[in-house]
Amino acid sequence: MSDCLFCKIINGEIPSTKVYEDERVYAFKDIEPIAPYHVLVVPKKHYSSILDVENNDDIVSYVFSICVKLAKDEGFDEKGFRIINNCGDEGGQSVHHLHFHLLAGKKLSWEA
Ligand code: 5GP
Ligand code: ZN
Repeated sequence: MSDCLFCKIINGEIPSTKVYEDERVYAFKDIEPIAPYHVLVVPKKHYSSILDVENNDDIVSYVFSICVKLAKDEGFDEKGFRIINNCGDEGGQSVHHLHFHLLAGKKLSWEA
């Protein structure tokens, strides 16, 4: 997707602070972090949202496995962490390329 912000970040057209990359996933620091550790874990393939993921596609479990790996690597397995996906306007999605927020480093509050 030529006009997608996260596709541009993934292909290097827009700079980002990379924390992890493999053939399926790119992870980078959120530009406006809401926690001491706030990373976006993003499939390299463009999906507009979680609604685009077919039942037989393992991308979500793959992304979760990378989130858990990153959390463990940073030592958050003991204190805890949070993985979030926002979908659609009321779900709070602002970038329409599927992504998961990995948050950690403080006691996180909860509201809806
Ligand atoms: P959403 O609101 O769609 O769930 O999350 C989008 C996230 O992308 C937000 O937390 C926002 O701060 C982050 N973001 C938006 N533009 C950029 C950018 O250009 N670079 C980085 N690193 N993060 C961005
Ligand atoms: Zn995209």
